[in-house]
Amino acid sequence: MTTDITCYFCSQAASDIDFKDVEILSKFLSAAMKIKPRKETAVCSWHQRKLSKAIKIARQMALLPYLP
Ligand SMILES: [Zn+2]
Repeated sequence: MTTDITCYFCSQAASDIDFKDVEILSKFLSAAMKIKPRKETAVCSWHQRKLSKAIKIARQMALLPYLP
């Protein structure tokens, strides 16, 4: 590790991202309700994949909006 910014989910030791955790998911959404780039959130690629999946499910379940 060369950077002091670490993945939020790794620091929480989360293996799975729950789509029902809307509060956490919305942290990774921009004002336009798009998933923020990894540059901004510092989420690792493994968790980024889980995150985008969780956000997509949350949208389908109407827990998160597609548009602001
Ligand atoms: Zn991670």
